[in-house]
Amino acid sequence: MKINILDLKEGKTEYFEKYNENTLDLKGLEFSLIGQLNAHIVIEKWRGKVKLSLEADFTLKMQCSRCLEHFERSFHEEATFYLKAGKEEVKAEKSLKDEDIYTLFYATDEIDVTPLIRDMVILVYPMKPLCKPDCKGLCPVCGVNLNKMKCHHEQVTIDPRWSKLLEIKKKISKA
Ligand SMILES: [Zn+2]
Ligand SMILES: [Zn+2]
Repeated sequence: MKINILDLKEGKTEYFEKYNENTLDLKGLEFSLIGQLNAHIVIEKWRGKVKLSLEADFTLKMQCSRCLEHFERSFHEEATFYLKAGKEEVKAEKSLKDEDIYTLFYATDEIDVTPLIRDMVILVYPMKPLCKPDCKGLCPVCGVNLNKMKCHHEQVTIDPRWSKLLEIKKKISKA
């Protein structure tokens, strides 16, 4: 959805928009968007300053990186942008205020909200999705899903925190 900043009246303007996998161009990725994404878009214009707040509710279907099962998860994401006309100037020294991080420059009078919402979805997708934090994964020998059944293969996985402790213990016993 494109919003013309110049045409906006002073004060608060709200939009409720629905998007799907096609309108957000999310096809062919590692995850899929289930049904519709509901977006709440708020633009506040005050004396030439423009603030854009986005809220998005959506459900993703993804594959667990450990057990390879597909699962769904719902998200509620929020983002705020301060809009400035013109192109971004490269300053020699850029202070890192919160405002700078979210400042969005627009070259025309129109701002397209769709790519911003698309980014919110893509950024929420984890590097290694897990169906649950303690997913047991697959047996490396026979491949059974260890969340669902046990096999006779011994699982020799040591928690990395314990292995550190073991190292320390060894050092102490040597000393
Ligand atoms: Zn899993
Ligand atoms: Zn096994």
